[in-house]
Amino acid sequence: MTSKGKAGILWLARDLRLSDNPALRAAIDDGPLLAVFVIDGQVERQGAASRWRLQRGLCSLDAELRRRTRGSGLLVLRGEAEQVLPDLVRLTGAKSVHQSDWPAPGMRDAQDRVRNALTPLGARLILHPGFLLTHPGNVRTAQGGVYRVYTPFARALRAVGVDRPAAAAPEAIVAFSKPPSGLALAELQLAPDMHGGAEVLERFALPAGEAAAFARLDEFLDHATSYDADRDRPDLDATSGLSEHLALGEISPRTVWAMARDRMEREASKADGIGKFLSELIWREFAWHLFIDFPQMDRSPWRSEWSAFPWRRSNTSLERWTRAETGIALVDAGMREMRVTGRMHNRVRMVVASYLTKHLLTDWRLGMSHFAESLTDWDPASNAMNWQWVAGCGPDASPFFRIFNPEKQATQYDPQGSYRRRWLAGWMGKPTDEAMAYFDSLPSSWQVSRDWRERGGLDEARKQALAAFEEFKEGAPRR
Ligand SMILES: Cc1cc2nc3c(=O)[nH]c(=O)nc-3n(C[C@H](O)[C@H](O)[C@H](O)COP(=O)(O)OP(=O)(O)OC[C@H]3O[C@@H](n4cnc5c(N)ncnc54)[C@H](O)[C@@H]3O)c2cc1C
Repeated sequence: MTSKGKAGILWLARDLRLSDNPALRAAIDDGPLLAVFVIDGQVERQGAASRWRLQRGLCSLDAELRRRTRGSGLLVLRGEAEQVLPDLVRLTGAKSVHQSDWPAPGMRDAQDRVRNALTPLGARLILHPGFLLTHPGNVRTAQGGVYRVYTPFARALRAVGVDRPAAAAPEAIVAFSKPPSGLALAELQLAPDMHGGAEVLERFALPAGEAAAFARLDEFLDHATSYDADRDRPDLDATSGLSEHLALGEISPRTVWAMARDRMEREASKADGIGKFLSELIWREFAWHLFIDFPQMDRSPWRSEWSAFPWRRSNTSLERWTRAETGIALVDAGMREMRVTGRMHNRVRMVVASYLTKHLLTDWRLGMSHFAESLTDWDPASNAMNWQWVAGCGPDASPFFRIFNPEKQATQYDPQGSYRRRWLAGWMGKPTDEAMAYFDSLPSSWQVSRDWRERGGLDEARKQALAAFEEFKEGAPRR
């Protein structure tokens, strides 16, 4: 204790947890803990639903920190990190600021600015692992580049192995005794632009926080036998529901991996289910390794020839898609699920994204932005990679000519129609509470009819999409 400094500063980003958090351990080793979250321009520019979810995650971490420190919670400050953090260094005399590295491009820029601001004070920024399964430098092709195709990437990652989780944080933590005053979390309005949507999410979103993440993982592993067979069925609750916990770092992917592997080794009947689940976690990892290598992935097509594709920009069909009034039952059900819960089943995400980019020939970036605005599990790498994958312009993408037929997808994956009935008031039978809650979540300027009407035109739209693609292919430079 006596060799410790005056304070250990932890700059939180997407690591809202106490377990497997090497940055937290390092800050505690430096001295009494001062854990700070900075609401900067990047956070303010995030989509409304993810800001709403962030606030819940911060409240949950704050409560746990208060319990372990006997009273001192999270310090939440508004400003730019390169101003806020040097002030804390001056106040505490700390020599280091610790952060779990969140490798998003905007955060990389902020880290550079913080480094520059700390140097004159004789302090430094120390980044720690924990957001990914392993450091991207460990999974490289023979030529030293990033893998562009998922299967060899997954093989290489499994060969290298996943990093082991770090030891848990101590049960009792000494906190810095004289922190500056910060924003009161309970009064903080991180998503005032949600309007009625916030109350609806309050009712239908999954519980937030680290304890909820562990409970969710445990429950999922208990039932993981059927994951392999049922994960594509939106009418069943067959997937883990961990994505928002992972997006905010309420649980680390390394912990998820280790606990799932452990269960798989102990219960042979779960090997296929958990094996498939681990390969989905690798998709998340793949998205991040790609994003780190190509930080423009959320703006520009990975394959540059796609810059010339004649995507439609803002249009009335896009508006109908956004408001869940396309008249295609599975598409509208999925868009309503997203508005009411902040999430959407993966199979349905693929269908709505394919419908927008192919049947409606609309720019994938517009769909991606709407998802970023509406998802509580928003993750910039997974969102961008998947949109590019569906649109056909990403690395290892599904080819453009492979166009999902939303009606066939519905018959195959929602055979009794219970998913569509759950989310779509006016589609077969009495509306459910969830279906009606959709209307409470809407901004008053959206005039969405309560009388849902089916619309045809899928075949015609598909033909137009294929014709546009043929024309594009002929004009595109040969590779
Ligand atoms: C157009 C589109 C946009 C998407 N945007 C996001 C996003 O913003 N944030 C996000 O977390 N996921 C996104 N996904 C991926 C996927 O839909 C969600 O991760 C998944 O639905 C979350 O549910 P779950 O946690 O129950 O998943 P499970 O099936 O239980 O999978 C376990 C974990 O693996 C990861 N995972 C699963 N599928 C994928 C995938 N296709 N790509 C990357 N990681 C995956 C997630 O971290 C997930 O929590 C998107 C998919 C599509 C098609």
